[in-house]
Amino acid sequence: MDYLRKEFYDSVKLNDTIFDFIQNSSLDGLMYWDLENPGNDWISDKFWDTLGYSPNEILNRPSSWRTTINPEDLKSVNKNLQKHYDDPSFPYDLTSRYKHQNGSTVRIRCRGLAIRDKDNKAIRMVVVCSESPKEKESSEKFRQLLEIAPDAMIIVNNDGRIVMANQQTVKIFGYSKEELLGNLVEMLMPGRSASHHHHLVGQFFKSPKTRGMGSGMKLFATKKDGSEFPVEISLSPLKTEDGMLVTAAIRDITEQKRSEEIRQISDRLTLATQAAKIGIWEYDIVNNLLQWDDKMFDLYGISKSSFSGAYDAWQKGLHPDDVERSEEEVRLAINNKKKFDTEFRIIWPDQSVRHIRASALVQRNDKGEPLRMVGTNWDITERKRSEEIARKMASLKSKSKEMEQFAYIASHDLKEPLLTIKNYAKLLVEDYGSELHGEASHFTTSIVKASTRMEELITGLLEYSMLGSNHRQLKEVDCCKTIESVLHDLGGLIKSNQALVKTENLPMIKAFPLEIKLLFQNLIQNAIKFKKEGIQPIIIIAVEKIDGGWKFKIEDNGIGIAKNHKDKIFTIFRRLHKQNKYEGSGIGLAHAKKIVELHNGEIWVESEPSSGSSFYFTILTELL
Ligand code: ADP
Repeated sequence: MDYLRKEFYDSVKLNDTIFDFIQNSSLDGLMYWDLENPGNDWISDKFWDTLGYSPNEILNRPSSWRTTINPEDLKSVNKNLQKHYDDPSFPYDLTSRYKHQNGSTVRIRCRGLAIRDKDNKAIRMVVVCSESPKEKESSEKFRQLLEIAPDAMIIVNNDGRIVMANQQTVKIFGYSKEELLGNLVEMLMPGRSASHHHHLVGQFFKSPKTRGMGSGMKLFATKKDGSEFPVEISLSPLKTEDGMLVTAAIRDITEQKRSEEIRQISDRLTLATQAAKIGIWEYDIVNNLLQWDDKMFDLYGISKSSFSGAYDAWQKGLHPDDVERSEEEVRLAINNKKKFDTEFRIIWPDQSVRHIRASALVQRNDKGEPLRMVGTNWDITERKRSEEIARKMASLKSKSKEMEQFAYIASHDLKEPLLTIKNYAKLLVEDYGSELHGEASHFTTSIVKASTRMEELITGLLEYSMLGSNHRQLKEVDCCKTIESVLHDLGGLIKSNQALVKTENLPMIKAFPLEIKLLFQNLIQNAIKFKKEGIQPIIIIAVEKIDGGWKFKIEDNGIGIAKNHKDKIFTIFRRLHKQNKYEGSGIGLAHAKKIVELHNGEIWVESEPSSGSSFYFTILTELL
C-alpha cells in the first residue's frame, strides 16, 4: 500500500485544500517549528481555538504557545524536547496544562516528531496536539450544563472577571460572549451598585459557600442597552486548579415582581372594597354570564345558590320603576354612548327597598366590540335617607320661615285696627260711661277687656316672630348676672307669692344675651305662676357641663304636668288652663323653645301632675 502513502504525501504537498482539511479536523492543534530560527513557530488556528483565542489575537507572537503553557510544565516540555532532539528513539509525547483564555486550565497532549538533516540534527519539529479526552469530556459536560440552565450563568474569577457565560446570559443581557469574556462582572450591574458589589464579591471569596446574593436586598442588573431589571442571584464556589471561581446564576424576576405587585394591588383593592362595602361584578356580554363577588350577594340580600348568574337575575332584583331606566343605562354603556355611572333601587327578598350606586367600564376587542363589563355596586340607602331628611328639613324650615313672616305681618298689621277699636271703646267708656246703662255698659267694658287681651296676644306673636330674626353676635353671658336681673324684674311676682329661688354657681356661656334672659324669665315666671295652692313655690336652678355646652334645669314644686301634655305645651298659644285660673297667653314656652333652638339646644320637661316639674334645656354653642 505504499503507493497510497506516497500519493497522499504528494497530494498534501501539492494540494492546500487537503492540508487545510487535515489541520482543521483530526487534531486540536498542529505546530511546525523552525529549530534553526527558534521562535519561528507556525501554529494552526485550531490550537488557539482550543484555548479560546481568535487567531488574530495571537498572530505574529513568536513562541506564543510558551506563554500559555503552565510554567512548571514548560520545564518538562523543554527537557523532553531536548531529549527527543538528541535521541530520535526518545519519543516526544507529553500532556501539559495550558491556560484557556477564560482563565481555566486545558490539558493538551502534544506528540512531536523532529525532522533532521543529513547529520541527524533536528532542524524542524512537527507537533500534533489533542485536548486530553477526559478533560474535554468534563469541560464539555460542564459547558452543556451551563447551557441548559434556565438562568443566565456566569463564572467569575477572583479578579471579578467573567471567564464563562452561557447562551442565556447572551440572550438576557444582549452582549455577545466575546464582549462578556474577560470583562469585569460589574458591566452587568447598575453603576450605583458596582462598588457595593465589589465588596460582596470580596466577602464571598472570604467565605465561599452556596448562597443567595444580597438576600433581602433589591438587586438589579443592567442590559447592554442600559435598561435595568430586577434579578435574583445565587452564588456557588467552584474550586479549580486555577483557584477559586464563582458561579453566579442570575434570574430575571421581572415577571415574578410584576405578578407580586399585581397580587399586592389586588389585595389592597380587595381590602378597600371590603372596607367600603363595595361589591364587584363582571358581566361577560358575549356569553351573558354575570359574576358577582361575595359582597354583591350581601348587597342584594340573596344567597349564592339563588342566583343564576345571568343578566336577568340582576334585573329581577331591581325595583320595577327602575328596570327600564337601568337597562337603558347598560345599553348606552355597551353601545359606547354613555359612561355607566348610575343609581337604582333594588328590592330585597324581605321586600325592603335599598338604593344602589353602580358604575362600570366596558372592555372591548380591537374592533371596538364590547366583550365584558366590570363594575361596582355599593349601598347608598343611608345617604339617600339622610338626603331625604335634609330635604324635608329644608322644606319645613322654609315653611316655618314663611309662617313666621306671616305671623309678623299679620300681627303687625292687626295691631293698628285693634288699637283703634280699643281706643274708641275706651273713649266710649270714659266719655259716655255715665250714659250707658245695663247691658250697653257691660258690652263696652267687655270690648275694652277683650281688645286689651288681644293686643297682648298680638304683641306676644309679634315678639315670637321676631326672635332671632336679626343677626346678632353670640356673646359671653354671665348666667349669675342674668338670673339676678330676672329676679329683680320679677320682684313683684316673687314677693306676692313668697317664692324662693335657689341657684348654684352658674357659668359663663356663649349666648344671645337678651334671648337667654327672656328664656330664664319665662321658665321662672311659669314655675311661680303654676304653684300649688297654699304651698310656697320653691324653684331650684341647676346646671351641668356637657359636651359642647351646658344643660340647665329649672325645678319647681308646683302643680306638675300630665304626661300627654308634655310636648304640647311648647306649641304656641297652647295652654292647659282657663284664663281665669292661670293668666297667660300660651306663648312663653313656644318662645323658650325657639330661643333654645337658636342656641343649638333642646328643651323638654320631666313632670308628674301635682309633683312639680323640671324643665331642662341645653345650650350647645361652644362649637359654633
Ligand atoms: P302660659 O304660661 O302663658 O300659659 P306657656 O307657653 O308659658 O303659656 O305655658 C304653656 C302651658 O304649659 C301653661 O299654660 C301651663 O299649663 C303649662 N306649664 C308651663 N310651665 C309650667 C309649670 N312650671 N308647671 C306646670 N305647668 C306649666
